[in-house]
Amino acid sequence: MKTLNDFNFEGKKALIRVDFNVPLNDKFEVTDATRIVSAKPTIIKILEDGGSCILMSHLGRPKGAQDEFSLRHIVPKVEDILGVEVKFASNCIGQEAEEAAQNLKPGEILLLENLRFHSEETAGDVEFSKQLASLGDFYVNDAFGTAHRAHASTTIIAQFFPESKCFGFLMEKEIDSIDKVLNNSEKPVLAVLGGAKVSSKITIIENILDKVDHLIVGGGMTYTFVKAQGGSIGDSICEDDKQELALDILKQAKAKGVEVHLPVDVIAANDFANNAETQIVDVDKIPDGWQGLDAGPKTLENFDKVVNQCKTILWNGPLGVFEMENFAKGTISLGNSIAEATKNGAFSLVGGGDSVAAVKQFGFEDKVSYVSTGGGAMLESLEGKTLPGIAAILE
Ligand code: AMP
Repeated sequence: MKTLNDFNFEGKKALIRVDFNVPLNDKFEVTDATRIVSAKPTIIKILEDGGSCILMSHLGRPKGAQDEFSLRHIVPKVEDILGVEVKFASNCIGQEAEEAAQNLKPGEILLLENLRFHSEETAGDVEFSKQLASLGDFYVNDAFGTAHRAHASTTIIAQFFPESKCFGFLMEKEIDSIDKVLNNSEKPVLAVLGGAKVSSKITIIENILDKVDHLIVGGGMTYTFVKAQGGSIGDSICEDDKQELALDILKQAKAKGVEVHLPVDVIAANDFANNAETQIVDVDKIPDGWQGLDAGPKTLENFDKVVNQCKTILWNGPLGVFEMENFAKGTISLGNSIAEATKNGAFSLVGGGDSVAAVKQFGFEDKVSYVSTGGGAMLESLEGKTLPGIAAILE
């Protein structure tokens, strides 16, 4: 795997696909700059080598050139984070972009306008990719968040740089973390899968059953498994048509020697609301009119023991409805267990959507080994798919 440190960028113009798809408020200010901060090491390495950087990204889902999706809005924030002046081209292809790229000197940065102002970007158009490619003499992909898309700037463009392309530092870290969990893992390996639905996690479960020693199933998925085994789940969330699948997963896990851990008790509520009445009940004895919204104390004790005997931990999906304060305890407790295991030498990866939000909200970000920056890209990696953006660099 070729990464930045294998190259020297002196005198080179590096065309870098970054993921600057950041949230903006109604004054067009960046409200979470994590993605810009994550791209910084790659940009700085190239500048310090004596190269220049041409940054390209998408922002949102514009229909044509819509000012509200202009990357111009984020220029001050990018300058602030990088500590370098950032030039801006109001179109990612064409004369203005070409002249700005040609005039770029070592140590300078140019940000191109939103790639998705051209529909050719998401269509993966070859001619458009070629025009983008003409701007630089080296291609770096550091946009893990879009690596699962075969778009012009993430995948198709790579063919124009057969010998001069590589991953950026962020991509390298993401790929490395997934590899540490799925392929080169220290045993015992644990996957914790929570969240709402079995249907959205089934491909991941099937892929990781061959790779893990322990599987914790939590969150809303629990109740499909419990009902399938004959338990009473009251009004808890359940996918009735996935009960067979749940039994099949348990059977497959047994055959592969994977220990599956399900909640034994839950915090049940009489309404899907933070101020609902609650009671702690066995997971398979939830009364009608009540629904399980968080893991119970015995469950959390059990999960803590499992987590702390494992050397590699993957966490995807919350253990309860963590958005409501009264049902966030399970997710926080699991976060604490994973933080402790990490402190004692385990490798922990948190990835995919809501678990990342939970980890940030409850301050576990610095207490786990790695928090993935890519939602969909992370989930597809865990499903065992080869991401087109990664394949294009390796080819
Ligand atoms: P996912 O995107 O599949 O990881 O699901 C995350 C969502 O699952 C969060 O919004 C949680 O509120 C929700 N969730 C977790 N546990 C439960 C539960 N017991 N009942 C309903 N929703 C849940």
